[in-house]
Amino acid sequence: MAKTKEYTPPRALITGASRGIGAAVAEALAADGHPVILNFRSRRDDAEAVAERIRAGGGEATLSQFDVGDAAETAAAIAALLEDPRPIGVVVNNAGIARDAPFPTLSADDWHAVLRTTLDGFFHVTQPLVMKMVRARFGRIINMSSVSAIAGNRGQVVYAAAKAGIIGATRSLAKELGRRGITVNAVAPGLIETEMLEGLPLDRVLPGIPANRLGTPQEVADLVAFLASPRASYITGQVIGINGGMI
Ligand code: NDP
Repeated sequence: MAKTKEYTPPRALITGASRGIGAAVAEALAADGHPVILNFRSRRDDAEAVAERIRAGGGEATLSQFDVGDAAETAAAIAALLEDPRPIGVVVNNAGIARDAPFPTLSADDWHAVLRTTLDGFFHVTQPLVMKMVRARFGRIINMSSVSAIAGNRGQVVYAAAKAGIIGATRSLAKELGRRGITVNAVAPGLIETEMLEGLPLDRVLPGIPANRLGTPQEVADLVAFLASPRASYITGQVIGINGGMI
């Protein structure tokens, strides 16, 4: 039998890793041996606390502050990260915001802010890394979508539009990169216990969740870590729900 090349977990960039799902993903990937790069927009102390936990567990974590929606800022940050010769083989496009409002009252600013973070963010972060993955013939691109993209949700017209857009991008990029050893998948969580859900009336939402509870960031992180691993080499172009049975 041919000897298989030994796998060294490559560097992983996780956007929006200062808290919530992104922080849990960073910790899970670090536990799997990936040196992790924690992106955040503003909450440096939170990001530093995540990095400290990772380092305390023997992992490698560095911080990279940039707004994924800002083209120039992101380009400069990624160029700096690429000065390290070790490849970035895993990208988790997790940074996201919600601006929920009934559609007639949704402001143009909120419409643009959500699309900019989710869709422009995906483009700004992923494009400069893809050619490097092609050359390395390995890559894992994991995009955070949402159950709202698939089922729709009242008050979430722009959020669902952005998260559905990312599904189209995922499926198309998977087709472009399938022959190159690069997988591209979307994860579509249901309701996960993070700051994003602050103020959500649990008594109203729980009846819609067969599991009768919110999900945890750790549960989403476990799925992302699997998709990032060599064990998931034949999974690409998929949208994987993690929602307690909501749809
Ligand atoms: P949180 O609100 O808890 O955390 C958001 C993270 O994204 C923070 O790290 C924040 O950084 C970062 N961020 C926001 N905007 C930007 C930006 N422009 N540039 C860089 N970083 C940014 O969110 P969750 O952990 O709940 O959500 C993570 C992802 O999962 C999002 O894409 C969300 O839409 C998606 N999701 C969440 C669900 C849920 O129920 N929680 C359900 C379905 C999908 P900082 O701390 O510096 O502000």
